[in-house]
Amino acid sequence: RTVYLNGEYLPETEAKVSIFDRSFLMADGVYEVTSVLGGKLIDFDGHLARLERSLNELDMEKPEAFDDLLDIHRKLVELNGIDEGMIYLQVSRGSAGDRDFVFPDPEETKPTLVLFTQNKPGLADNPVAKKGIKVISIEDIRWGRRDIKTVQLLYPSMGKMAAKKAGCDDAWLVEDGQVTEGTSNNAYIVKDGTIITRNLSQDILHGITRAAVLRFAREAQMQVEERPFTIAEAQAADEAFYTSASSFVMPVVEIDGTKVGDGKPGPVAKRLREIYLEESVKSGI
Ligand code: PLP
Repeated sequence: RTVYLNGEYLPETEAKVSIFDRSFLMADGVYEVTSVLGGKLIDFDGHLARLERSLNELDMEKPEAFDDLLDIHRKLVELNGIDEGMIYLQVSRGSAGDRDFVFPDPEETKPTLVLFTQNKPGLADNPVAKKGIKVISIEDIRWGRRDIKTVQLLYPSMGKMAAKKAGCDDAWLVEDGQVTEGTSNNAYIVKDGTIITRNLSQDILHGITRAAVLRFAREAQMQVEERPFTIAEAQAADEAFYTSASSFVMPVVEIDGTKVGDGKPGPVAKRLREIYLEESVKSGI
């Protein structure tokens, strides 16, 4: 695989980052994942805008190549022959060559920019989406700025492990009795035709797929309510699903051992998945 590191396209084994890099020592980095379908980038503008926002919120310098990111994404897709898959991008604050809690002066360091591809043939036609997935709920004990897409992913990782141990696929996070989001996705339920998903705030990541799916839902005259919901409400809903750049719209058929609806992917989730795939591929760049 050819990867990108600070201006160079390199074989993955030759791409090296300093042990003093703050993403390694302090999780001082932000990231984006953009999916590729039919060799085209999906929702690229949204991911780029969110990256810029994450950098601003953390007073992190933009990497020099910021304005070339579209070209870099496209070049990696081409070099690695990606038809369906993902591009991972990470920017860290870099390092001034020592470990220090205080941010280094911007004159002393440059951000580290890394991109690599992940080939995932069959991403759009995922058989898992036809069956739906099972989630458990766990307490949300992450930090208070979940709207910033940082690389602090230890707790989400532990949540996925807890789900796996319980024979499930993912965990939904609960704070003050209400679902915030999934470990790596935004959570939704459907009741009497209304799509319900938590409102945007610092408590959740502002999903790029969420924004697109809600826009498509409203365009298709579906009712949308942006508000928190509980696990009990989700278990009693007609349908549940989640969205993310790498799984698009994913039906959730079981929550903490209770079937949602008839335990099969529901019509709203199926329809939104179809619309999202069709529209986002059409507008892919
Ligand atoms: N919420 C969290 C915590 C995430 O990590 C992600 C994606 O990685 C999402 C939501 C979904 O965001 P997007 O649709 O932009 O991939």
